[in-house]
Amino acid sequence: MTTLRNLPSIEQLLQTETTAQLIAQFGRPLTLDALRQTLDDIRARFKRDPEISLPSIELILSRAESTLTAWTESTLLPVINATGVILHTNLGRAPMSEATIRAMNIVSKGYSNLEFDLESGKRGSRLVHAEALLQKLTGAESAIVVNNNASAVLLTLSALANRKRVVIARSQLVEIGGGFRVPDVMKQSGAKLVEVGTTNKIRISDYTSALKEPVALVMRAHRSNFKIVGFTEEPEFKDIVDAAHEAGVPVVDDLGSGAMYDTAKYGFVHEPTVQESMQAGADVVLFSGDKLLGGPQAGIIIGKKALLDKIKKHPLARAVRADKACLAGISATLTHYLKDEAEREIPIVRMMSLTLKQVQGRAEAWRDHLGQGKVVEGESTVGGGSLPDESIPTYLLELQVKSASKFLLALRKNNPPIIARTENDKVLLDPRTVLPAQEGALLVGLKNLLKD
Ligand SMILES: *Cc1c(COP(=O)(O)O)cnc(C)c1O
Repeated sequence: MTTLRNLPSIEQLLQTETTAQLIAQFGRPLTLDALRQTLDDIRARFKRDPEISLPSIELILSRAESTLTAWTESTLLPVINATGVILHTNLGRAPMSEATIRAMNIVSKGYSNLEFDLESGKRGSRLVHAEALLQKLTGAESAIVVNNNASAVLLTLSALANRKRVVIARSQLVEIGGGFRVPDVMKQSGAKLVEVGTTNKIRISDYTSALKEPVALVMRAHRSNFKIVGFTEEPEFKDIVDAAHEAGVPVVDDLGSGAMYDTAKYGFVHEPTVQESMQAGADVVLFSGDKLLGGPQAGIIIGKKALLDKIKKHPLARAVRADKACLAGISATLTHYLKDEAEREIPIVRMMSLTLKQVQGRAEAWRDHLGQGKVVEGESTVGGGSLPDESIPTYLLELQVKSASKFLLALRKNNPPIIARTENDKVLLDPRTVLPAQEGALLVGLKNLLKD
């Protein structure tokens, strides 16, 4: 009769060559942990069902190895984005340029002059590294880079409007996604909201009457992933700024995406740019580093020196500051704009700028390589809370499979995972968002799955 006494001991397992290899690969404490857990599992199962046969030493060790792999493998993996959504929030937003990755890599590897002035040999400020670039690109007097744009909003309002009144249009009190609600973040900063206008109609007189009472700021928040259509009215931003300035009140503009270029050039609606906001007279402008800018996750605050000095000094500034890799990455990304090479170097700008013919060519090459599928017309979108409802024409590879949902699951389980979409039980793949370096892996994965 099989009894648990037949189960090998830890000591016996430690004698094997396989265990020696596991220890070399995973370290002794973790390997011991995995062996113990594997034996415990077998004992527990045996107690539940004494009829089962005990596994061999080889099987025990192979289970321990699987456990060790599962414990040490990263759960955060690169995936292939074949969805056609350029800034896919769930897929990590903007892929970064080569120069950006290099810059982040270099400062991460060793020490840097992050807060050290090489001229004087004294303590410096981390804020200087991206500031000059932002001044040059936008004409702003001063700039700060923080962890993300949500923290830029929180920090700015905390520093400039704590326990004071902030005027904002009712139509801008939106939820941006992931639970980021503009009114909630504003309240979190201690600001008191003065809502003006209605959901669909705001007039300049709504602002001027609100400005008769003392207020600290007028704020504009980009609606990002939400569009109001039909019976609507909203004053020009320039007129809002003028009304605020007339009352001696500064204007904070939360752009969200923060394009440095005209998105209309690529067939989308025109997204307000950072430069336009500055030209209209905004005193502080906030935007993300990893939306339409196409860099690492960051929040960028630019504007008038007097206001930014207050923001820099606020205690929250320390809590939300950007790290050295982020500062290096943002600077490298901004440099692409300065050198007018964004289209060539920044992946998301390149994706937007691809011509229909180029996308069609890639879809046809995929079809020819796979020996199946159909190239059809479709739409790519920006996503990531930018340009809601907006799309540009694209070409898709359409695959006819037995079950589209099962095929999508198999694609997600591929190494690397491939994320696609379905329509009418067909699988659709958009070449626009597939990075050229991942094209080989995509085709290998597809070929394997189409074989079965
Ligand atoms: C996306 C967005 C934010 C938040 O930016 P994160 O970089 O995601 O923190 C804030 N405001 C607006 C208008 C946005 O679109």
